[in-house]
Amino acid sequence: MIPKEEIMGIFEKYNKDEVTIVTVGSHTSLHILKGAKLEGFSTAVITTKDRAIPYKRFGVADKFIYVDQFSDISKEEIQQQLRDMNAIIVPHGSFIAYCGLDNVEDTFKVPMFGNRAILRWEAERDLEGQLLGGSGLRIPKKYGGPDEIDGPVMVKFPGARGGRGYFPCSSVEEFWRKIGEFKAKGVLTEDDVSKAHIEEYVVGANYCIHYFYSPLKDQVELMGIDRRYESSIDGLVRVPAKDQLELNIDPSYVITGNFPVVIRESLLPQVFDMGDKLVAKAKEEVNPGMLGPFCLQSLCNDNLELVVFEMSARVDGGTNTFMNGSPYSCLYTGEPLSMGQRIAKEIKLALELNMIDKVIS
Ligand code: AMP
Ligand code: AMP
Repeated sequence: MIPKEEIMGIFEKYNKDEVTIVTVGSHTSLHILKGAKLEGFSTAVITTKDRAIPYKRFGVADKFIYVDQFSDISKEEIQQQLRDMNAIIVPHGSFIAYCGLDNVEDTFKVPMFGNRAILRWEAERDLEGQLLGGSGLRIPKKYGGPDEIDGPVMVKFPGARGGRGYFPCSSVEEFWRKIGEFKAKGVLTEDDVSKAHIEEYVVGANYCIHYFYSPLKDQVELMGIDRRYESSIDGLVRVPAKDQLELNIDPSYVITGNFPVVIRESLLPQVFDMGDKLVAKAKEEVNPGMLGPFCLQSLCNDNLELVVFEMSARVDGGTNTFMNGSPYSCLYTGEPLSMGQRIAKEIKLALELNMIDKVIS
């Protein structure tokens, strides 16, 4: 892990009046960059030439940093270019996927918004379970192996595959039959199979809850909620049941988009309690904890319990549903507020108070 002092040493050499907010062009970069501009920052996007179009058309980036391929973002010359523009990087899902978690932790020496040490806690299922379970949140029951399957389960595989290869099943026989089918189709490898993660299938409505923890104000804010739009499951549910059986299609859960949602108001105490608990536990486990945006992906069952099946320890893709503000983020000030602008406000306040060490790593 790059020591905090080293990052602070780099930041000390910056021109603090000319900070540029930078991220990779994908995932949630539109509102990260737009939000930064609204708060008066310069912005830059890292992109390949063929992916630059949205940033040009929407005009959210003042500068373009071109790479031949996204994996080049960790190269020393790019890092130097970033430091020369007094960059603070806002890491998102694609940034971490393309830079590589090891590089983010050990070689990417550019100041980054949030706690870079916590990113591994969302990437590794055991750490994630330790944090979510340790916070006292309700999480799906985990099975030790296929032989223990005694009811509906969801089978997942490691890596940033965006739901590809996941399947529901209800028995040991069905597990091995589906594994065989997916292997034959080339969706899964033998190595994947040995790493299968089997958990209780939660039947419920999907709420992906976007929080922002402000280390400067020591408060957890509810910024918005989305639900997922996944292929092929969301197309499959439009096929009438009798035809579904005829078609014999296995669903997949590949994220393709998101919808904004609001949650029953009487569930909001539970929503805030979950965010508060996670922030408190993260402070204990990964000092200084969960700084800035994070997301709890949950399913609400008919006992009105929010069961958390996944966490993002950084800005989550579902925040794109409120680039122009959400019903919740709007309540704080009466103004539309995106997650990107909320991040920029925290950076701006930290600069004004001379407390940037509280928000970067
Ligand atoms: P993930 O990649 O973990 O976000 O999961 C992809 C999708 O699989 C989710 O958006 C849900 O639709 C579904 N899913 C994940 N875990 C469960 C579970 N334990 N029970 C039911 N559905 C799940
Ligand atoms: P991309 O740059 O779109 O290929 O995305 C890189 C990673 O971010 C993938 O692992 C995706 O699963 C994840 N991702 C992208 N968009 C979203 C989204 N809207 N919601 C959740 N995850 C996303």
